[in-house]
Amino acid sequence: MLRCRTYINPFVNWIENGRRWRCNICGVLNDVPSAYFCHLDEQGRRRDADTRPEISEAVVEYIAPAEYMVRPPQPPAYFFVIDVSLQAVQSGVLARVAEGIKSGLVDLTGDDRTMVGFITYDNSVHYYVLRGGSSGPQMLVVSDLANLFVPAPEDLFVNLADSRDVVHNFLDSLPDMFSKNQVRDSCLGPALKAAFTVSKQVGGKMCVFQSAMPNLGDGTLQFRENPRIMGTQEEYQILRPGNMWYKDTALEFSKAQICVDMFLFPFHYIDAASLGELPRRTAGQLYSYPSFDATTDGPKFVSELRRTLTRETAFEAVMRVRCTKGFKINHFYGNFHIRGTDLLALPNCTSDSVFGFEIQHDEHNVNNSVLTVQSALLYTSSEGQRRIRVHTQALAVSNSQQEIMETADAETITCLVSKRALEISLSNSIDTARTKIQQTCIDILRSAKGGGGYGGAGYPSQQQQEEKEIPASLKLLPLYTLALIKNVAFRGGNDVHPDERVQARMRMACMYVPDCRYFVYPRMLSIHDMDGSAGRPAAEGVEVKPSTVAGKLKVVLPKAVNLSGERLLASCVFLVDSGVDMFLWVGSAAGEEVFNSLFGVNSIEGCSSAEV
Ligand SMILES: [Zn+2]
Repeated sequence: MLRCRTYINPFVNWIENGRRWRCNICGVLNDVPSAYFCHLDEQGRRRDADTRPEISEAVVEYIAPAEYMVRPPQPPAYFFVIDVSLQAVQSGVLARVAEGIKSGLVDLTGDDRTMVGFITYDNSVHYYVLRGGSSGPQMLVVSDLANLFVPAPEDLFVNLADSRDVVHNFLDSLPDMFSKNQVRDSCLGPALKAAFTVSKQVGGKMCVFQSAMPNLGDGTLQFRENPRIMGTQEEYQILRPGNMWYKDTALEFSKAQICVDMFLFPFHYIDAASLGELPRRTAGQLYSYPSFDATTDGPKFVSELRRTLTRETAFEAVMRVRCTKGFKINHFYGNFHIRGTDLLALPNCTSDSVFGFEIQHDEHNVNNSVLTVQSALLYTSSEGQRRIRVHTQALAVSNSQQEIMETADAETITCLVSKRALEISLSNSIDTARTKIQQTCIDILRSAKGGGGYGGAGYPSQQQQEEKEIPASLKLLPLYTLALIKNVAFRGGNDVHPDERVQARMRMACMYVPDCRYFVYPRMLSIHDMDGSAGRPAAEGVEVKPSTVAGKLKVVLPKAVNLSGERLLASCVFLVDSGVDMFLWVGSAAGEEVFNSLFGVNSIEGCSSAEV
């Protein structure tokens, strides 16, 4: 007999006056234990539904019983692996890294069990003994990369509360310790191995800061940049990892519950495609700051690092998504490693994690009127509690093509199409991916106009189709489609740097719907004609559209206008925001008054871009 594995939820069917319930996912009939029994009301709803979150709320969290633990819940743990070679020091990266970590450590979530550790590296690996009570950290240098010596982990991976002073001293002195470093080499692989050996018993988050292409020991990468193949059928070769070491290492890390967030500061080709395998398969993120400038890029980097450290983080997590019988989930998108057929291994899962999936129906005729999707995330909270967070969503199922098209969401479609196209460009070519993006849009619009592609009786004639309007819900799909094809991730031509392409791809793979919309089709805010309300918090009690305000204070944004070349008149000033970067576009003939109020100068000639 089948055992039902569904978590009880608001959408199950109660029968026999509440003695049994039919599962809305697997269809099995379950007995209600007598302790849980409650009578039903006239609508067939349990009378106690409003007092029980698990049958009235779509999101609930359970404290997991002991059988959901293979070991005691881990403490929150952060390990930092820092490149201190010449490039990292001279560019100011190292100073900003120390500053960012220090600022993040002050506001970490979690309790006093939190652990931290540090390794730095250039042509050798440097360990730091951070015993509490000592005046400063003790540094151990290991140059034999082939037979890497690792000191006792308990001195290197320490309790933050016990060692806070020595950790702060270490971070304050770190930039000076290497200020005269002339070593250009980078042994990232051995440094990662050392960090793994130290932290594998605990797990947690590993932040890696890399400025040059690794050239010593395991994980050495080759210079593969070749402008001639960018934009051609052959480009997929450099989008794929050139070295399996990072993928293999990532799987080892995933098993040990270690998630890698990787921060790259490339001044030349760094092979982000190979390095990116680490965050991709350990549920981490890749950040990249090309030609890092400590003054202009520093604040963005520090704030992204701070967010990485201080946001809500679930440790040693796994997630499974189930859906109603007759449907199946046929593909997952995002950063994770799949264990078995459908268990997503997530050493970390954060409030910024995004996973996409596609649902397919198994049978040609679907009888259900509702499709239920339930995800269960089993994780350890930063307070050390093993929990299960369950999301349940019920979606209406329809056989009417018109109904489906009218309720379709152009932004969600674009987000999912982009994720699918990323995979096509890797397995096939970017050219094929662009064709697929375009074809998907054409198929959807044709379908929205009543064409099924099958011809024959029952479908409107070609003329009827041409006259039929596209539903409002899909009006912007052609625009998003064209914008997606022009995005750095998919654009043709050879003006895109391979690392830039990889970074855009990595971002897009984990983007949620509104972020993806702006990344694909940036918003353009009109600056030259802002009215008095712009830049101030919205008036209290006034209903505002979320897209017209920003931040907790709901600061009113300047008016958004269509992103089109025709709008870029010489007399105008626009702020273009992709959610990742912002560009200020200043027309050469923008009025003196505009220049004066924005930049304090009379014309563009007197304007320093660094000061802006
Ligand atoms: Zn079930």
